[in-house]
Amino acid sequence: MNSAERVYNFSAGPSMLPLEVMELAAKQLTNYNNCGMSVMEMSHRSKEFGEILHTAEKNLRDLMNIPDNYKVLFLQGGATLQFSMIPINLLRGSKKADYIVTGHWAKKAAQEAKKFGQIKIVASSEESNFTYIPEVKKEDFTKDADYVHITMNNTIYGSKYPYIPDTGDIPLVADLSSCILSEEVDVSKFGLIYAGAQKNVGPAGVVIVIIREDLLGFAPENTPIYLNYSTHAENDSMYNTPPTFGIYIAGEVFKNIIRLGGISAIEKINKEKAKKLYGYIDGSSLYKCPVAVKDRSLMNVVFVTGNEALDKKFTQEAKAEGLHNLGGHRSIGGMRASIYNAMPMAGVDALIDFMKKFEAANS
Ligand SMILES: *Cc1c(COP(=O)(O)O)cnc(C)c1O
Repeated sequence: MNSAERVYNFSAGPSMLPLEVMELAAKQLTNYNNCGMSVMEMSHRSKEFGEILHTAEKNLRDLMNIPDNYKVLFLQGGATLQFSMIPINLLRGSKKADYIVTGHWAKKAAQEAKKFGQIKIVASSEESNFTYIPEVKKEDFTKDADYVHITMNNTIYGSKYPYIPDTGDIPLVADLSSCILSEEVDVSKFGLIYAGAQKNVGPAGVVIVIIREDLLGFAPENTPIYLNYSTHAENDSMYNTPPTFGIYIAGEVFKNIIRLGGISAIEKINKEKAKKLYGYIDGSSLYKCPVAVKDRSLMNVVFVTGNEALDKKFTQEAKAEGLHNLGGHRSIGGMRASIYNAMPMAGVDALIDFMKKFEAANS
C-alpha cells in the first residue's frame, strides 16, 4: 500500500506511526543494513541488535533528558503488567501507597495494587465522570507512603495533569502511556515513569520503564524473576529475549523525533493541533467537550453531540471519508480523536472540515 491509500487513523492505540519510519522498516524488513537477515530473525545477542538497543536507549535519554541515576528498561506485558510490577517492587517499607484516580487506567492500576498493600485513593474525579484532574497538595499524601501513583494522560476520558503533584520525598510514579514524547517532562520529578509503546512510540509489545536507581532492589525474595525490575536493570533489558522488533521500531521513532527537532518541536505542533480542534469544538453549537478546559489532553480529544444516535452516525460517516476510529471508548461512547505525534496537522484539518460538514447537515 502506498502512502496515498492511507487513512487518517484516530485510534487511541495501537495508533498511527510516522510513515517515514514504517517505509524504512519495510525497506529493511528482509535485510537489515546488509546483514542478510531481518531484525526479527537476528539474535538479540548479536552486535547488530546490541547497537539497535543501545542507540534506542541513548536517543530516548537525550530526547527526554533522562538523568544518569535512572535506568531505562524495555520490557513486555504492556502498561498493565506495570500495574502489578510497581506495587511488587516499590511497596518496600510501610507497604502503603497513594493513588489518584482520574480515569479507567488509573482505577485499574489502583485495583491491582490493592492485592499487594494498603492502597489509599487520595483523590478521584470519578464522581464527575472523570471530567477534570483533582488538585492535590503535599499534605494530602500519606506521610509514610512508599509511593504515589498518577496517570498523567487519561486516554479514555481525554484529560491530563496540568501540573506535577508535589509529593515531597515520596517517589512519584506515573503512567505516561498515552503522552510520552508528546511534550517535555522533567524526569527528575519522578521515581518511576512507564509507558506502553503502542500509543506514541511503536508497535504493541514494548513497554518503557524509567526508574530511579535508589528504587531498585526491594522486591520480595519470592518475586517472579521477570517481575523484578532489578533483573532487567542488571542485564540492560537483556535478561531474556526482549521484544526486538518493537525496540527497533521504537528506536526509529526516536530518531524521527530527533530529526524533527526534538520534543520541544513536537510539543509545539501538538499544542497547535489540539488548540485548533478544541477551538473548533468550543465554537460549534453541535459538539461539546466535557473535559475542564485547563485539564484537556493534547493527545486524546473527547467530544459528544449529546445524541447517541448522532454520535454513531458521525463515526460511521467519518470513516467513509477516510477518518477512522473516531468512536469513543466502549465504556463511555461519544467520539474521541486521538491525535498522537504521528497525526499530521492535515489530519486534524480534515477532521475539522468533516465536522463542519456534518454539523451543517445535522442541525
Ligand atoms: C493503553 C493504556 C494502558 C493499557 O496498556 P496495555 O499496554 O494494553 O496494558 C494503560 N494506561 C494508559 C494511560 C493507557 O493509555
